Formats: sequence, structure tokens, C-alpha cells
Amino acid sequence: MKAVLFHKHGGPEVLEYTDFPTPQPGPGKALVKLKAAALNRLDLWVRNGMPGLKLELPHIPGADGAGEIVALGEGVSRWKTGDLVVINANLSCGVCEYCQAGLDNRCRSWQLLGEHIRGTFAEYIALPQQNLYPIPPGFAVAEAAAAALVYQTAWHSLVTRGGLRPGESVLVVGASGGVNSACIQIARLAGATVYVVGAGAEKVALAESLGAHFVIDRLKDDNWSKTIFNLTDRRGVDVVVDNVGTTFPLSFRAASKGGRILTVGNTGGAQFEIDNRFIFRKHLAIIGSTMAPRRDFSTVMDLVYTGKLKPAIDRIFPLAEAKAALERLEKGEQMGKIVLEIG
Ligand code: ZN
Repeated sequence: MKAVLFHKHGGPEVLEYTDFPTPQPGPGKALVKLKAAALNRLDLWVRNGMPGLKLELPHIPGADGAGEIVALGEGVSRWKTGDLVVINANLSCGVCEYCQAGLDNRCRSWQLLGEHIRGTFAEYIALPQQNLYPIPPGFAVAEAAAAALVYQTAWHSLVTRGGLRPGESVLVVGASGGVNSACIQIARLAGATVYVVGAGAEKVALAESLGAHFVIDRLKDDNWSKTIFNLTDRRGVDVVVDNVGTTFPLSFRAASKGGRILTVGNTGGAQFEIDNRFIFRKHLAIIGSTMAPRRDFSTVMDLVYTGKLKPAIDRIFPLAEAKAALERLEKGEQMGKIVLEIG
């Protein structure tokens, strides 16, 4: 099969579009002929190399994908060939205490497709049958692939972990990344008042198109925590979605008393200083999570399938041009998800 892979970590130059042995579906697995994959920042970090990350090389990046089942391993009961499926990138053991409790994203031997094992930037992938979810007839395969990782992450963070309720106020720090775009739509769907701070006119316009009630362009207003304070009658917002990290000091200021700071990542850097006085004086809670358990995945994909949530798609590249697609992501030029079309 054709695949995009690298033999050593590094910049865009390490990526090759080349031949790789087609995987075979072992027991409990199905072979998926991929039709689409979607990019995540994770793909850049894996390509560049992260501390502690040990991969079997060559490595194929990609956590998101969707396609058609073309072969079944022994003991696969829930699928048949020809089924269209989207991939859930959470790989879990199914037997540990967390898996037993339905929290498979906290599995003691948790792995993420494309990060720890070879991913979706290829023509075929063999995956455990429980990592696949059906795509209804007529639904665009590219949209399913674009939705999977970011919507489950955003839903689990905002709704399950963050307990977002109708009538609450939410500030999303960052406007155009995949998880933040999903958070804007989910917060709006949940009946919250949505504030977004973004960089530049295009990005705040995207946030408005996704449902934001109030937008702040931080290129014109870098003191956005004060602006939020003024917009909320000096109260602050109930929930801040901060996946930048280095912006925590401003997010603490923008939060109300008893506010929740939700985080699933740190695009601005992993380490930064925080002023602890904000946390106790304002009764703040910092709530972290990564990905989502399977029940959240099916809940949010059903909302995508019925059009209640709609992934913003930036651009579609052929698989052979994955290098250029990742360069676009690296420059932060994208407005929504970048998708690879396969086959
Ligand atoms: Zn487990």
C-alpha cells in the first residue's frame, strides 16, 4: 500500500510518500480501506519527536481517519465488509479498572493511534473492532474523519468533565484550532453564552460563524481578560477553555468566582508560571482531560451526523501531499480541519 511515513524524527523533510506492507487484520480486528484522514497538531509533535516517545520506525502518523471495512479478522462479529466507519483513536486494554468503569481514555495501558502506533496516513489500517463507529449512508467520509478526535475531546472536556450547563458563560481562548472550533459549537449547542478570543480578523470571523456571541481580536486588544471582565459586568465567565497553557494567568483573571478552567493541551508551551492566589481566592477548579471514553465518542459523532455539530474544513489535500498539508498546519494558516483524501 501507499503510506506517508518517516524513518527518523525531524522537520517536513523526513516525511516520505512511499510503499509499506499492507497490514492484515488479526483476531478481533477489521481491515479498513481509508478514504480520508485528518490532521492534528499531534502529528507535528510526533514527527518532530517528543521526550519519552519511543516509536517503532518507520512510523506512519495520523490519529483521525474514516473508510470502508474490506476484511475481518477472526472473531469479529459487529462488522461486515462494505461497512463505512470512522476511527476512534483511543486504544485501550478493555480489562483494567478504568476500562471496566467505562473510562477507556484513562486506560492503564492507553495508547493513541498515530502517536504510539502507526496511524492513518496510509491506504489501509487494521484496528480493533471496538475502535470503529458506523458512518450513516450519505454522510461525507471526510467530515467524519475531521470530527472524530477534536469533537470527542471537546465534548468530554466541556460537557462530561466541565459539567457545562445552559445559561452559563464560556470563554474559548483561541478561535481556529480544531478542538477550540468544536468547543465553540458545543458550548453554543449546550445553551451557553460563548466568548472567543482569537488572533486576527479572519479567525474571529470564523469563531462568529461557528456560533460565538462575543469575539475579541487579541491583535487589537491584548488585555482581553479585562475586556471579558467588563463584558460580563465585572463578574467573569463560568468556564474558560484554555488549550494554550501560557495564557493561564489571563484565563484565571477572566474566570468568575467558582470558575472552571478546562484544558486538553498546551499549544503555547507546556511549562509556565501561575499565581496560586487566583486559584484559592477565586475558588477556581482546573480540570484536565485527554480524548474521551467511547460513550462520549458515540454521543458526539451522532450529533455530527445529525448536523447539530459541523466540523469546519479548511482544505483537502491528496495523501501524496501530506507534507504540504502538515506545513500548512505548522504555520497555523488553517481555518478549521485539514483533511487528506485517500484513494
Ligand atoms: Zn484498560
